[in-house]
Amino acid sequence: MAESSMQRNKLEGRVAIITGGASSISEATARLFADHGARMIVVADIQDDLGQEVAISIGTDKCIYMHCDVSNEDQVKVYQSLVDSTVQTYGQLDIMFSNAGIVSASSQTVVDLDFTTLDRVFAVNVRGMAACVKHAARVMIEKGVRGSIVCTASVNGSRGGPRLTDYSMSKHAVIGLVKSASTQLGVHGIRVNSVFPSAVATSTLCRSFGGIDAEQAEKICERLASLKGIVPKVNHVADTVLFLASGDSAFVSGHDLVEDGGLLSKMV
Ligand code: NAD
Repeated sequence: MAESSMQRNKLEGRVAIITGGASSISEATARLFADHGARMIVVADIQDDLGQEVAISIGTDKCIYMHCDVSNEDQVKVYQSLVDSTVQTYGQLDIMFSNAGIVSASSQTVVDLDFTTLDRVFAVNVRGMAACVKHAARVMIEKGVRGSIVCTASVNGSRGGPRLTDYSMSKHAVIGLVKSASTQLGVHGIRVNSVFPSAVATSTLCRSFGGIDAEQAEKICERLASLKGIVPKVNHVADTVLFLASGDSAFVSGHDLVEDGGLLSKMV
């Protein structure tokens, strides 16, 4: 078999949910999953127009959009909402890419912490992530599916920083979730891992750098990495998610896959 065809269709016949699917990392991942033969990709988000556009452009025979605010467990779980209705319609769930996440608009240094803002960051980044893992695992166990759950953490999940305290706290919590879930779900053959990007020029990143544009953001992202001659893009994260979602990582669980061009290894 030619190498190129061996590398395609890594997700043949699989059913996947991708949260935060209307843009950036999730959108790129949805397109890659479709290229790799996923039977159905359910993109879930709160940006309905963008989400619909993504689904239509991929093809509604392979991808549908569902409104789901991940901070609301009922919208993640129950019939006519994300997880149960996916299983009801497509028979099972093989992959959950829990990627929806937000960053505070303000700097959120410790002495300036605004707790209403912190609560919202935690509601999406921590409770929403936990709800997605919980309900994906529940239906995978019910159907006897040896599935793959991938959560988006961040290099901020292993380091502090001069600002965005609440975001850093929330991503540390994601690591705890992945460690606990992988320990508990291994007995069912379910793998749980995180992808750990550093900085990729997306709308969230541009906002977190005070509203800079994508071009300025790319320059910063490039500068941060030790690895030179490559601009980090959403496709790089999508490739890593594909690896974790597919059989290529069959014995990988409880792992935080850092994707940072050497940033965390640097002595500063
Ligand atoms: P993004 O803003 O383009 O994507 C986030 C998506 O999540 C958006 O489509 C948004 O509508 C959706 N979303 C927000 N709140 C939601 C909710 N309550 N329910 C459902 N969907 C919701 O930005 P992105 O950079 O692609 O972010 C994706 C993930 O990657 C986030 O978890 C973020 O923390 C993480 N991350 C990003 C970077 C980076 O440099 N861009 C680095 C590390 C981690």
